[in-house]
Amino acid sequence: MRLIVLGPPGAGKGTQIAVISKHFNVKSISTGDLLRENIKNETKVGKLAKEYVDKGELVPSDVINQLVENFIVGLEDGEGFILDGYPRNYEQALALKNILSTHSVAPIEKAIYIKVGNEEVIKRLSGRLTCSLCGAIYHKENQPPQKENICDICGGELIVRPDDTEEAIKNRLVVYENETAPLVDFYEQEGILYTIDGSIGKENVSQQLINDLSDL
Ligand code: AMP
Repeated sequence: MRLIVLGPPGAGKGTQIAVISKHFNVKSISTGDLLRENIKNETKVGKLAKEYVDKGELVPSDVINQLVENFIVGLEDGEGFILDGYPRNYEQALALKNILSTHSVAPIEKAIYIKVGNEEVIKRLSGRLTCSLCGAIYHKENQPPQKENICDICGGELIVRPDDTEEAIKNRLVVYENETAPLVDFYEQEGILYTIDGSIGKENVSQQLINDLSDL
């Protein structure tokens, strides 16, 4: 199983990928999580990425492509994977094709597009809380943790991501529309687009994905 997952910020990509990768026992990688980890550890990549991530801008593609290539190189022969938050623009979509062929990895089988409208996305992101340890996602109103600001899963502290502020959210949506949304057409033309309505409820989306991906 070799998948990429597209959709606006807040579409539920991370949540659904966690479900699919557990169910099918497939590795996943989130470029956003990797960048946040690098920023936390103040690595060279982290120092470069911080100002972009905080503003909701895209980090330069050469940096991201390298992170993804490292991940692909680390896979066993024939091992499946799911990419979360990559590719984010044409340049990265083409780079991904190159990376896969350079390392003799078969092409992506499906580009899953989780479709959610702008209003819903803004509502979701503006109340979002993220565990600073395990990355689990909560929502102040729709899905609060049992204990205030404490992760139900690992006990870590819940934080508002620096790019979940109103201004950064707006910017991320503009960046998404301009840079990433055109990839939906790109993958449709490649004949591997699979669209799912992301507003039918978390469990329903998961169930449908599990059903539809079972024969991959
Ligand atoms: P995410 O967790 O996927 O919402 O990503 C958070 C932030 O990390 C984005 O707003 C970008 O600043 C950066 N980022 C993540 N993935 C990429 C990517 N593929 N290309 C460029 N920047 C990225």
